Formats: sequence, C-alpha cells, structure tokens
Amino acid sequence: MTDYTVEVPDGRERGIRIACDEHGESAEFQPGYRSVAFHCEGCGVELEVDLHDLREWRDLGEIC
Ligand SMILES: [Zn+2]
Repeated sequence: MTDYTVEVPDGRERGIRIACDEHGESAEFQPGYRSVAFHCEGCGVELEVDLHDLREWRDLGEIC
C-alpha cells in the first residue's frame, strides 16, 4: 500500500504540497486552487484533492 502525504502549510500562503512516500515524487501547488491533481509516475495514478477553506465557511456562518 502506498502512502501519500498532503501538506497544507499554515499562514496566509496556503499552498498545498502532495507527495508519494513510496516513490519520492512530490508536487507543490500555489494557493487559490479549489482542487489539485497530483500524478505519480511510479504509481501510475492521479490523485485529486479538493480543498475547502474552513475560514470561508466560518465567514458565511457569521453573515447568516
Ligand atoms: Zn508513487
């Protein structure tokens, strides 16, 4: 089984980093993407990750 690492750094620069632990492949995505696709040659799979900014949800709640 292959493990994937998904990192979302804290702070304003909310980019995302996805890495395949088994093959050492990794990709970094700039902030602002709703969903990102990471492709690992070794696995031959594409991993799609959806990002939901929880702070945005909180703002919506305060409006209501
Ligand atoms: Zn892989």
